[in-house]
Amino acid sequence: MKRIIIIGAGASGVYLSVLLKKKLNEKVSVIVLEQNSSSLKKLLATGNGRCNLSNKNMSIDYYQSDNQEIVQEIIDSFDMKDAMADLGLLCQYQSNLLYPRSEQALSVKRVLMSEAERLGVLFLYEQEVYRITREHCYQVYTQKQSFSADYVVFAMGSEAGKLSGVNQSRYDLLKKLGLDVIPSYPSLVQMKTQPVLKQLKGVRVKGTFSLLENGYPIHVEKGELLFTDYGVSGIAIMQLSAFCQPHHQYEISIDFFDDIDERKFNEFIELRMNKEYNHFYDGLINSKISSYLETLDLHSSQDIVQVLKDMRFKVIGLRSYETAQVMKGGLSLHEVDHCLEMKKYPHMYAIGEILNVTGMCGGYNLHFAFSSANTVANAIKGDFYDKDS
Ligand SMILES: Cc1cc2nc3c(=O)[nH]c(=O)nc-3n(C[C@H](O)[C@H](O)[C@H](O)COP(=O)(O)OP(=O)(O)OC[C@H]3O[C@@H](n4cnc5c(N)ncnc54)[C@H](O)[C@@H]3O)c2cc1C
Repeated sequence: MKRIIIIGAGASGVYLSVLLKKKLNEKVSVIVLEQNSSSLKKLLATGNGRCNLSNKNMSIDYYQSDNQEIVQEIIDSFDMKDAMADLGLLCQYQSNLLYPRSEQALSVKRVLMSEAERLGVLFLYEQEVYRITREHCYQVYTQKQSFSADYVVFAMGSEAGKLSGVNQSRYDLLKKLGLDVIPSYPSLVQMKTQPVLKQLKGVRVKGTFSLLENGYPIHVEKGELLFTDYGVSGIAIMQLSAFCQPHHQYEISIDFFDDIDERKFNEFIELRMNKEYNHFYDGLINSKISSYLETLDLHSSQDIVQVLKDMRFKVIGLRSYETAQVMKGGLSLHEVDHCLEMKKYPHMYAIGEILNVTGMCGGYNLHFAFSSANTVANAIKGDFYDKDS
């Protein structure tokens, strides 16, 4: 019987443990070492507790990494809806987004954990792995114990959302093995702006939002924005944050009237200016934004159109990992082959967010976590069949 140690009981680690026992049963013992006192903490928070598992519109364009070819192979080879149905979890698409039918992340956790426990996966909690050595097999060290293993899988996720522990050990562990780790920073996260329009706190607006660098748009998102007391939030902003790099200067441009072209909108504003409303912007836009616009004292139709179709904010920073959905960076894909096995270490793999792979909002990150686990389960199973033959 071969011993497999998975480090991390997040989505990728737990799903891998299930697949390995399903595919290899008595041929393997599977131990999951988790630093927290329970499994799948982050999964429970996903999709506002509803767990957006995947997206109908699956494409490599929604991912960033340092080897897109590997990522594409992995995401394309996996169907989340079928995979969950195999576990007994029924899912359905709401528009493009895949959710469990229960609309509860808790049901995903329960299905995964009961399957893992039924198959005999051993979960050991409060076991933070800090070191791994290799002689005839791998030796995995936590503060409490050490474990021998024939296979080791890194499934340590990231510190995003503060739900998977805020440790350095996940990255140090890899660095001590001489593996290339790209420094991590928050992504899919809110933005701090200048000015901060605190009077608009809580106002949600629909429109088109552009991230500008040196005045030019580098990414555009249609959707919803939320004004906050530090800057801006909302899905469109989270998506734009995925295109921000540390130490670069950005602006956000808001087009509140993206459905009307500038010339027509200008004509409309000119007509409206002839009517002498008491509060010019009322009826056009949210009343809090209207009150703010009145303080700007704009006189020409061009100035008004400019502000309503291109309101600018300087981005003075992203919020921290604590409120981010994912972290960019992690283990470089140059360290792994197409099966996610380390080129330097046989029988050592990495899956999920510990890898330098970041998906956009919309189920892409869980899709990668599960599909990468599927890739590794198939690779390990392949080892056994090769040996048997
Ligand atoms: C608030 C929030 C909402 C989100 N919503 C969605 C969504 O709706 N759809 C979507 O696709 N994605 C979503 N994401 C992102 C998604 O949850 C993650 O990308 C995904 O869960 C990553 O899974 P993982 O298994 O790689 O890592 P994680 O879930 O982070 O699990 C890693 C595990 O490893 C453990 N660990 C770390 N280091 C060690 C160590 N040294 N020793 C032992 N254990 C260790 C951690 O404690 C943790 O339990 C969301 C993220 C957040 C924070």
